[in-house]
Amino acid sequence: MTEVMREKLVIIGSGPAGWTAAIYAARANLEPLVFEGAGSRTMIPGGQLMFTTDVENYPGFPEGITGQEMMMAFRKQAERFGTRIITEDIVKVDLSSYPRVLTSSGGKTVEADTVIIATGANAKWLDVPGEEELARTGGGVSACAVCDGALPFFREKRLAVVGGGDSAMEEALYLTNFASEVLLIHRRDAFRASQIMAERALEHPKITVVWNTVVESVSSREQDGLKEITGLRVKNTVTGEEETLEVGGLFVAIGHKPNTDFLEGQIDLKDTGYIRLPDGGRMATNVQGVFAAGDCVDDYYRQAVTAAGTGCMAALEAERWLAHGGIEAEAGAAVS
Ligand code: FAD
Repeated sequence: MTEVMREKLVIIGSGPAGWTAAIYAARANLEPLVFEGAGSRTMIPGGQLMFTTDVENYPGFPEGITGQEMMMAFRKQAERFGTRIITEDIVKVDLSSYPRVLTSSGGKTVEADTVIIATGANAKWLDVPGEEELARTGGGVSACAVCDGALPFFREKRLAVVGGGDSAMEEALYLTNFASEVLLIHRRDAFRASQIMAERALEHPKITVVWNTVVESVSSREQDGLKEITGLRVKNTVTGEEETLEVGGLFVAIGHKPNTDFLEGQIDLKDTGYIRLPDGGRMATNVQGVFAAGDCVDDYYRQAVTAAGTGCMAALEAERWLAHGGIEAEAGAAVS
C-alpha cells in the first residue's frame, strides 16, 4: 500500500511566490513541504525566471542578478529553515475532504491541513523558428516589456510588439520610453483591446501599427558568440505577401496561461483559469485553509517582487488560520 504523508502545509510551485511562502512558513515552524514541479520544456523548478538572463528590477541587487542565480538563492534560503522539497508535480487534488488530499506525479499521496498554490503562469509564445532560442539566451525576444524593455540591449532601437489586446497596447506604450520606434503587429484589422487603450496606441507618434500580419520566423546574427535578433519574416494574412521587417527586439504579448488545469472543479477559477480570491486583499481562496499566491492569481502585475509579496501574505494567512483553530474553528463559526 502507498504510504500517505501527513503535513501541516504543502506548497505547490517553486517560483518567487512558492519559495517566499516556504521561507515564511518554515520560520514559523510549519515545516512546509514544497512540490517544486517535475520540469518540462515550458516549466521548470524555479519558475519563469529560470528562462531569463538579467533581472534588474528586483530590489536588493543594484548590479542585477541572473534569474537562475536568484531562484537558487530563494531555494537555499527556504532550505536553510527546514523546508523539505520534492521534485514532482501535483497532478490531482481533492479539496472537498479535510485534510486536503494531493496526489503527485510520482504517485505520492499527501494529506495537508493547509495548502498554498503558487504554480505560476506561462507566457504564450508564437512558436515560430528562432523565437525560443533568442528568448532563452537574451538575444532580443521577450514576453515582458516591464521586465526587459529598459535593458540597454533594447534602447533606441526599432522594436516589435505582437498582439492586439490590452496587454499588447500596454507593452507597446511602455516601450515607447526606450525605443526609437515601436511596430505593433496584429493578425487582424482591428484590436481586441479596450477602446481607450487602442486609441492611446494608435495616436502615439512612436507607434506604427502593422495590420493583418503574422510573424513567420525570427532572424538573427551572431555577435561575440551570442545570437541577437535582426528582423522578423512576416506574412500579410489578406494578400499572402511576405516581407522582412528589420527590428532590434521582439515582445510577444499574446497572453498568459495560468498553471491551474489540475484544480478544475476543486476551486473557484475565473474563465481565464486564474484563481479567484473572494477577498481581493487577501490570499485565501474559496476553500478553507487553501491559499494562493503569485502569477496563478495575478493577471495584471506579473512581477517577481509581487509574486514574492503575495507568497509572504499566503504563508502568514496559513499560519494564522492554523493558529486560530483551522478547520475546527471554521466549523464552529458556521454552527454558531
Ligand atoms: P512561476 O515563476 O511561474 O513559478 C511557478 C512554479 O510552479 C514553477 O516552478 C513550476 O514548475 C511550478 N509548478 C507549476 N505547476 C505545478 C504543479 N502542478 N505541481 C508542482 N509545481 C508546479 N519579473 C520581474 O520582476 N523581473 C524580471 O526581470 C522578469 N523577467 C522575466 C523574464 C521572462 C522571460 C519571463 C517569462 C518572466 C519574467 N518576469 C520577470 C516575471 C516573473 O518571472 C514572474 O512574475 C514570476 O516568476 C512569478 O512567480 P510565481 O512564483 O508566481 O510563478
